[in-house]
Amino acid sequence: MIVVEDLHRHFGGFRAVDGASLQIATGSITGLIGPNGAGKSTLFNVIAGVLPPTSGRVTMDGEDITGLAPHELFHKGLLRTFQIAHEFSSMTVRENLMMVPAGQTGETLWNAWFRRAAIRAEEAALRAKADEVLDFLTISHLADEKAGNLSGGQKKLLELGRTMMVEAKVVFLDEVGAGVNRTLLNTIGDAIVRLNKERGYTFCVIEHDMDFIGRLCDPVIVMATGKVLAQGSAAHIMENEAVIEAYLGT
Ligand code: ADP
Ligand code: MG
Repeated sequence: MIVVEDLHRHFGGFRAVDGASLQIATGSITGLIGPNGAGKSTLFNVIAGVLPPTSGRVTMDGEDITGLAPHELFHKGLLRTFQIAHEFSSMTVRENLMMVPAGQTGETLWNAWFRRAAIRAEEAALRAKADEVLDFLTISHLADEKAGNLSGGQKKLLELGRTMMVEAKVVFLDEVGAGVNRTLLNTIGDAIVRLNKERGYTFCVIEHDMDFIGRLCDPVIVMATGKVLAQGSAAHIMENEAVIEAYLGT
């Protein structure tokens, strides 16, 4: 589905992504691991249009999507989750979900917010959709909670929920488990698996917790110093000497 060819992203003379090539197969939950500073987040940001590449190519179902803006990728069903922006933390969880379909960033969201006040029917449909998403994620009880009051893990679930408000095809998750307790991490993992199995979402997941990666992801891609070092099943990866060396070297 997603093919990345010889991708580079340099910052000044520093090669954060240094000729990475990889593929994300339709229907997979692909893991992306690697030591801190390996270039994982930078790679995600280039694929998702947040950062322009220095060189290289990204295609989605054969179509060149290199350097497209996040909102253009959003319309193609390619989503990268974002932290709940500060200005939305005083809105409820349900309201945060309801404003997603217009786009993911800044001004578009605010436009949608004002426009939607005038369109009651649309609002009712959005509300029903948001409630369905909350039910799917087993967080219906948080619908009227202010987003800013959620725990780290609950926020991650809300971020995942926002991808369900639109027709997502492939979703990029950066460190879903960071600062999340084990119970919520399992809930997030279950939601990812169900979205994959029941709704056909393809995922690419960056995560440090190898239990989580091992349980969810196949294949797992390992990055180090801006390049892809290895790829395979989680078990296979953990026996790879170059991978072990890359981790021990940091
Ligand atoms: P990872 O997510 O694998 O930990 P990152 O992609 O965040 O790695 O970072 C890779 C390298 O690129 C790091 O050394 C980081 O300091 C550097 N880097 C990331 N973003 C920038 C930036 N905007 N400007 C300069 N250097 C950056
Ligand atoms: Mg990172």
